[in-house]
Amino acid sequence: MTFTRDELAEKDAQDPLAFTRARFFLPEGIIYLDGNSLGALPFAAIERANRVLKEEWGRSLISSWNDHGWMDLPARVAARIAPLIGAGADEVFVTDSVSVNTFKILSAALQLRTGRRFIVTDKGNFPTDTYIAQGLAAHLGEERAALRFARTDELEAALANGDVAAVLFSHVDYRSARIEDMRRITTLAHAHGALAIWDLSHSAGAIPVDLNGAEADFAVGCGYKFLNGGPGAPAFVFAASRHHKAMRQPLSGWLGHASPFTFSTDYVPADGIRRMAAGTPPVISMSVLDAALTAFDGAPMAALRRKSVALTSLLIELIERRCAGHGLKLASPRDPDERGSHVLFSHLDGYAIVQRLIARGVVGDFRAPDGVRLGVAPLYNRYVDIWDAVAHLADLLATREWDRPEYRARKAVT
Ligand SMILES: *Cc1c(COP(=O)(O)O)cnc(C)c1O
Repeated sequence: MTFTRDELAEKDAQDPLAFTRARFFLPEGIIYLDGNSLGALPFAAIERANRVLKEEWGRSLISSWNDHGWMDLPARVAARIAPLIGAGADEVFVTDSVSVNTFKILSAALQLRTGRRFIVTDKGNFPTDTYIAQGLAAHLGEERAALRFARTDELEAALANGDVAAVLFSHVDYRSARIEDMRRITTLAHAHGALAIWDLSHSAGAIPVDLNGAEADFAVGCGYKFLNGGPGAPAFVFAASRHHKAMRQPLSGWLGHASPFTFSTDYVPADGIRRMAAGTPPVISMSVLDAALTAFDGAPMAALRRKSVALTSLLIELIERRCAGHGLKLASPRDPDERGSHVLFSHLDGYAIVQRLIARGVVGDFRAPDGVRLGVAPLYNRYVDIWDAVAHLADLLATREWDRPEYRARKAVT
């Protein structure tokens, strides 16, 4: 299917989700295709940040813990996230980072599967997931915890010994955007007595997720990507309710205690998901995330997914048509059913190309070793954004204007 820019502008005009774009502050002159790395700023977040600073912290001071519901914030934010991921509100807690929450649930999984010491994950998984598993293994010692690498298509063999406590995979791969079959892999893990843990960082808020439909055991996910909670926003952790009674996590801080304000000597875990808490919630960033999630109001996940598929498909089609002959190669699944909400193209000079693209106002990112990654956020990206982004890309490839030393010099954050 080929479109003209005018036809795409018409698609934007007809788009039933067009109304959500106005909920975001989007700087003039920027085409933002990096919402999978840091979501754009919702206006509601600005307003809420002002209120929580001036009215709540400023005026009400410490009484805000009760009067402005600060203590309940993690549960309230969890209730907004739960429907996006197919979970019950009482199965989700918002706290800490993905890394810290991964440590907690890997520990919980090993403890629920005593006698099994392996955690299986993919070498290509997002590094922090692997690093945390390595750190936990080093901490517990190799008799109690060890790592085994396997891709999902090698999982059956990796599970065969009956020594695997848990498998840990990303639902959507951060490089290729490939969607894993959550139900199939979870069922396979269960058939071998292992628990299934999912990292939803690149899927929550971008594609439909059904944790309970897949009978997933635990999950973690990111607050600052498609959920738009702002840099370093708190992450979320999911534990299926059937595990709540037995699960333990080692960061047994006071706010995961059954009765924090009793100030008793011994730790007694809270009932339910709240035992995933360790310390005090970051009220300012949690409030901002809470407000940011209102950007999903009235925008059903199924409709967001349809738009996301249309935009990533358009992106691939336009790049392959208009940038042909310049060495870009699709590194994401071509089948939209297997693709999340970003697209990866490989190119030997991908880093410099992304830098030049950013200098032209089209913001994507680079993922080593050679990935040009462009994300689509269906809450605020338009069809014409895709057209305009590819027009820039085609032009800068044709002129080779990316081929300059300043675009090759690596920055700390890529
Ligand atoms: C972004 C991302 C993280 C981020 O982890 P933090 O500890 O919150 O910084 C973890 N895992 C995956 C798969 C991610 O994409």
